[in-house]
Amino acid sequence: MDEEPTENIGSDSGTEMGSEPATADGRAGRVVDRLGELYWRKHYGGRDAFECLVRTVLSQNTADTASQRAHDALMDRYGSETPRASGRDGGPASEASGTSSDRGSDGEHGNPRDDEGDLAAALADARRDDLAETISPAGLQNQKAETLVRLAGRVREEYDDAEAFDEFVAGGDPGAVREALLEMTGVGPKTADCVLLFAGGQAGVFPVDTHVHRIARRIGLAPADADHETVREHLETAVRDENCGFGHTAMIQFGREYCTAREPACLEGPEACPMADLCDKVGVLPETGAVVDPAEALAGDD
Ligand code: SF4
Repeated sequence: MDEEPTENIGSDSGTEMGSEPATADGRAGRVVDRLGELYWRKHYGGRDAFECLVRTVLSQNTADTASQRAHDALMDRYGSETPRASGRDGGPASEASGTSSDRGSDGEHGNPRDDEGDLAAALADARRDDLAETISPAGLQNQKAETLVRLAGRVREEYDDAEAFDEFVAGGDPGAVREALLEMTGVGPKTADCVLLFAGGQAGVFPVDTHVHRIARRIGLAPADADHETVREHLETAVRDENCGFGHTAMIQFGREYCTAREPACLEGPEACPMADLCDKVGVLPETGAVVDPAEALAGDD
């Protein structure tokens, strides 16, 4: 399964930063400032870290509306408003997540765990077929249910509950948190960075999804053949820390409205794209209407 979500999970939230753009130094800074003028300038953070993980898993390979429906259904059934959903017998989930048989106690003292209403506990103990049915609007429900149960078991095993995990994400050293997240099976760089940004509120984190990866290379903010991690490094180096969060969400919106994968706006002429004067148009040939991945354009130059 593709480990990375393809959809933006953060454009509808965040705190407005005000209208004053920061002084941008290089071209990447100017691009992000212009995105801020086009869309929004926001600070992110404060989301529950485990719920953020759940959202990113649900958003993989599906549209925002579908993953939102699945998220709402999941929270209705397993969230803190509902005491304990049916079917959490610990059987199949315990086997799947590899957690020890003392689930339900604190392990060390054998006392009952006070995890009533904890989302990680609820999902760790969820029956996978029930969970899959609940999140079916998101598609790939069986794989996603398995991933969610496994991640919930890991969070419960290592942090005890979702709240402690949240504290670790919000208060830990960003590098250490990223490393810990990446050690979780099913969590890729984009997911880890989204959790750091939307839950941890960490500045200087610029998650790279398919839109950001495409646009940054087309404009010339990163090498044409750069992979996701290399694009992230280039953006995080060139863009001011406080602008990375909205740079990510606004660039995704820009990728949906202007610089789409197959029909970038500049094919209609430079006036059709508000970024045209800052863009190298790598892989885009308005003269012929040809559009290829920037890496292919580079290969064609050889
Ligand atoms: S000029 Fe074309 S390639 Fe460049 S950002 Fe605009 S739409 Fe994308």
